[in-house]
Amino acid sequence: MLKLDILVLSVHPDDAELGCSGTILKHIAEGKKVGIVDLTQGELGTRGSVEIRAAEAAAAAKILGLTVRENLGIPDGFFQNAKEYQLKVIAAIRKYQPEIIIANAYHDRHPDHGRANELVEAAVFLSGLRKIETFDDGKAQQEWRPSILLHFIQDRYIKPDILIDVTEYWDKKIESIHAYGSQFYNPGWQDEPETYISSPDFIQVVEARAREFGKSIGAKYAEGFTSRKILGVNSLFDLR
Ligand SMILES: [Zn+2]
Repeated sequence: MLKLDILVLSVHPDDAELGCSGTILKHIAEGKKVGIVDLTQGELGTRGSVEIRAAEAAAAAKILGLTVRENLGIPDGFFQNAKEYQLKVIAAIRKYQPEIIIANAYHDRHPDHGRANELVEAAVFLSGLRKIETFDDGKAQQEWRPSILLHFIQDRYIKPDILIDVTEYWDKKIESIHAYGSQFYNPGWQDEPETYISSPDFIQVVEARAREFGKSIGAKYAEGFTSRKILGVNSLFDLR
């Protein structure tokens, strides 16, 4: 079995890169095993196609150094927080038995983000109930409940509960975002309409947010996360 330390469960390929790839890179550099399971193939995105987005996600996974990247093939746009999709997410959690799960923002401009978060929150709890049966390659899975569930912050501002300094990994983060040539600013991509996220402004706003978060902890760039649970530290000196 391939056990991960951190599993990111986000709805569209590219959400994890925008929301938490600095944190992913930082923990991989510390020797942690990190994976991303994308819930959907992003098939409703205005630009690109399922094939293009899958190739982009694979390229970004390489840049980040992920242990695994998988796609659950849940329908983009129309999924619900319902049993059939919860079971797919539960099976992914039990397959990789992570200590920490990172999910989409609580709510956002794109309604899939908040809805995906509700789906993942339900699945994280249900995954710990042994009477819910799931299978991996025909083999019954063990129940598993991660100890920590964090949510990254996306387009809409949400006040973070914790900030992580990702200054050292900023350039690599941007490189992983630009692996999605069909989605973000790319002067070579001319056949399809400009979108909210494909203008040069969008990446500048991603940077501005990280600079603002960074400033409040004395770093150049930081990523922010929220948690429904109150989080603790082992020492006051883990605070900064
Ligand atoms: Zn998204």
